[in-house]
Amino acid sequence: MTDNQPKRILVAPAWPYASGPRHLGHVVGFAVPADIFARYHRLKGNDVLMVSGTDEHGTPTMVVADKEGVSPREIADRYNASIREDLRDLGISYDCFTRTTTQNHARVTQDIFRTLYDNGWLIEQTALGAFSATTGNTLPDRYIEGTCPICGYPQARGDQCDNCGNQLDPVDLINPRSIIDGTTPEFRETKHLFLNLPAFADRLRPWLESKTHWRPNVRNFSLALVDELKPRAMTRDIDWGIPVPVEGYPPETKRIYVWFDAVIGYLSAAIECAANRGEPKSWREWWQNDDAHHSYFMGKDNIVFHTIIWPAMLLGYDIGGEIGAGKPLRQPDDVVASEFLRLGDEQFSASRGVGVNVRDVLERYDPDPVRYYLTAAGPETQDSSFTWAEFIRRNNDELLANWGNLVNRTLTNAYRNFGEVPAPGELTEPDQAVLDAVAAAFGPVGRLIEQSRFKAALAEAMSASTAVNQYISEQAPWSVIKADRARAATILNVALRCVDGLKVLFTPFLPFSSQKLHELMGYDDVLSGPLEFREVEEEEGARHTVLTGDYSGWRRGWGPTDLPAGQRLREPEPLFKKLDPV
Ligand SMILES: [Zn+2]
Repeated sequence: MTDNQPKRILVAPAWPYASGPRHLGHVVGFAVPADIFARYHRLKGNDVLMVSGTDEHGTPTMVVADKEGVSPREIADRYNASIREDLRDLGISYDCFTRTTTQNHARVTQDIFRTLYDNGWLIEQTALGAFSATTGNTLPDRYIEGTCPICGYPQARGDQCDNCGNQLDPVDLINPRSIIDGTTPEFRETKHLFLNLPAFADRLRPWLESKTHWRPNVRNFSLALVDELKPRAMTRDIDWGIPVPVEGYPPETKRIYVWFDAVIGYLSAAIECAANRGEPKSWREWWQNDDAHHSYFMGKDNIVFHTIIWPAMLLGYDIGGEIGAGKPLRQPDDVVASEFLRLGDEQFSASRGVGVNVRDVLERYDPDPVRYYLTAAGPETQDSSFTWAEFIRRNNDELLANWGNLVNRTLTNAYRNFGEVPAPGELTEPDQAVLDAVAAAFGPVGRLIEQSRFKAALAEAMSASTAVNQYISEQAPWSVIKADRARAATILNVALRCVDGLKVLFTPFLPFSSQKLHELMGYDDVLSGPLEFREVEEEEGARHTVLTGDYSGWRRGWGPTDLPAGQRLREPEPLFKKLDPV
């Protein structure tokens, strides 16, 4: 394959739990980086499929439903709706953002579960299950908290420690307690189907070792786990989840483990997306194609599910049952995990109510400054702290003072004096140099995005904007025009062409303001259009709503633009607002 042929890029952002409003600590890991990556690849002309949805099964939803005295379904419906609105308003350009409670997802999940069972990778074992000492009911992992046996964190959950990211069993916790009433759970024997992870270690290890392009946190963490794999239960003693397609596991008491079904969502959502578009087989071009590329995006607490459990499931599924139809499914090519975003000194955590909700932030601020902050100051390779003061400073001193100011003074001068893109005369050396500098930025910015180095990519785009600001300050068209209108026309033509190119460079990061600028510069087509909700109907009248967009009509091209002289400009308005300290 040459560079000129479009590649099939699967962009797979992690599935947010539909158990509460999502906060900035979530979207900084899965949503914003994935969207930058997807938008860049669309501009470059590649065939992008970005799919995900809300993760609605299992105990995260049940805990909230129990607290409120409503059904898990009601909680899932409520937060699916609000999360999908948050993601639309943040401009996360999914091809299909669906949910795990669809019939399609259950069918795909059961096919994979059944095939793994038939292939001998799911083995029945008894384990100690936790039961409430007060009611005698099963106490799911997430209902139990205690001290992490690995790092000593006092608020580790029964399934995982949020502090060190290790997977746990409730029985491992020191001083376990029920989060419902604080009592110590009783542990009794119960039967489950376990994924035989150690049987995959010899294939997972060399595969992980070959991933030298992954961020070190992801690769090192996964390689350390692969030597200590134990079989993990893929069923639970609960009644909210996908039924287990194996005899002896009645849906009244046993369901598939929520993480088993959540990772399958990347596949089932691709299948749904293809069906929604009326091309039901097209998903295979991403999933059963040697030339496709799969990139997953998440917070670091989700690494193990994407580098060990999901790859093991794919290996075990092999050439598969109904879905695979004789061909294996593609393994992850890249797994991009962010570190944690902290609020002051505390880690953002939905379950403990620490965080800044996406909705609260978007009610007060435009999405692009939020995306800018999360990319420029986010926890890409190390934990970072969110502060409002720093958010305001980044908006005012960087986004507005550099890029916003460049756009504003260029457009205002050109609009007032010419009303259109003025025709240039002969170019001077500085004219050509600044045009070359903008053109030269596309290579490194694109390469950095491909390497998931979003912070560095944004900095590179900003430094190109700085160079153009410097050019326009030195050339001062506002004073030149008094004596030499033709030369001022040339300077403004050059500056407008630079702004037009920078607009494309910034589109993956700042899609809303780039579209606005596109319109101000007199274009009538779409660079980055609105996202939309569409209703999908399944069997027996079941309906759900997906977040999607019609990306096929958007302008493509990753490189300098051909801004035609004579194009009418529209009356300029500022792209960004100056924000007051909070
Ligand atoms: Zn820990």
